[in-house]
Amino acid sequence: KPIVAIVGRPNVGKSTLVNRLAGTNDAIVHESRGVTRDRSYHDADWNGREFTLVDTGGIEPMKSDDVFSTSIRDQALAAAEEADVVLFVVDGSVGVTEEDESVARMLKRVKKPVLLLVNKLDNPAREDERLWEFYSLGIGDPRPISAHHGHGTGDLLDEVVSLLPEEGEDEDDPYPDALGVAIIGRPNAGKSSLFNKIIGSERSIVSDIAGTTRDAIDTYVERDGRRYRLVDTAGIRKKSTVYENIEYYSMVRGLRAIDRADVALLVVDSGVGMTEQDQKVANLAIDRGCALVILLNKWDLLDDDYKREQALDTVNRRMTLAPWAPILRISALTGRSVEKIWKLIDAAAAERAKTISTSALNRFLTGLREFGHTVVDGKRRLRMHYVTQTGTNPPAFTFFVNHPDLVNDTYRRYVENRMRAEFGFEGTPIRLYFHKKH
Ligand code: GDP
Repeated sequence: KPIVAIVGRPNVGKSTLVNRLAGTNDAIVHESRGVTRDRSYHDADWNGREFTLVDTGGIEPMKSDDVFSTSIRDQALAAAEEADVVLFVVDGSVGVTEEDESVARMLKRVKKPVLLLVNKLDNPAREDERLWEFYSLGIGDPRPISAHHGHGTGDLLDEVVSLLPEEGEDEDDPYPDALGVAIIGRPNAGKSSLFNKIIGSERSIVSDIAGTTRDAIDTYVERDGRRYRLVDTAGIRKKSTVYENIEYYSMVRGLRAIDRADVALLVVDSGVGMTEQDQKVANLAIDRGCALVILLNKWDLLDDDYKREQALDTVNRRMTLAPWAPILRISALTGRSVEKIWKLIDAAAAERAKTISTSALNRFLTGLREFGHTVVDGKRRLRMHYVTQTGTNPPAFTFFVNHPDLVNDTYRRYVENRMRAEFGFEGTPIRLYFHKKH
């Protein structure tokens, strides 16, 4: 689905606009926290044309030592990078601010279609005067809207839809069944070395997809009759000169790759160990439902047991919430164990597509009821009535329970661990939902 990003300073009315545009049945379909802070994804459609609205609301204050929690401008950049159309919202009652100008400069560089929306113009008499000021941003004609009252949103949606890429553009994909694989990680971890090693030893086809809005170059690799699509490797091979040393941009690129992948290969520099940034990307991949394989690269450089142990230790410590991700020690330089990556990709992809029968699930639930922990709160006791699989890629399960609010993080993790002990799911995230049923 095409993506429409809503960017702008806090409090200009982005979330109100999202609610307007997404309509009455709005539900947040996905939330991601971390790298780009609190983005929410909403399904929307207008006259039958579906798209996803991304709200960049809820920006947290910044910590200066954290490369990710940077500015509003960078927030907006991350959102704009993945979007097909950008809605830039400014506050008409305040006028142009420095932050607006900074966001505007960035948007001009991103080269996506941008609509400049001037919100909170509640006094029509002064509207023209106020609007005039926003021409200085150089984003084109400012459009007055009232997110609150809904004025102008119908016209706005017409225009948004007209700017979306043609439907079916993705059908240019020559092998729609190929498994999407993203190679992600920090700069210098060895992503391009690994990529080259992989395509050097396999039959590969480089396909320059001529999408107007998508600049990714996919590389297809064929192996034992299976096809793999290495995603967004353009950024890996052709090092973009401007941003190269800034981790943040490598992250933004990784994010886009993750969006189009089934399996993420996280390349970690063993000499450095797994860092907080690596952990954040890993979490992002998991949030987006990607299977995850961790590759401890440059293993050849670790010349004593202590260093090797330390490297592994950093991974284990950072992955306590996702201990199911397989870890492979490789050297992209010497080729050590690179061949084994395929097996892990295949296995993780198979687990991600796995289905469990309802009867097996309910046998599991019976066991959990009889021998497992439960949650009690005063007089209330959690009862799990029934469970069924409600999704694949990644697997999702819905539990029908008497008091969903009793399900806390600890219990959720407990159930997940029991599910994994019973059914596997190595390498893939799984999703558990708890719905009310008496
Ligand atoms: P990228 O930024 O993640 O794409 O990293 P590169 O592939 O450009 O690798 C960064 C540096 O690490 C280069 O000098 C590589 O030659 C080196 N490198 C990559 N993989 C390995 C490895 O397995 N062992 C060693 N010793 N060096 C490696």
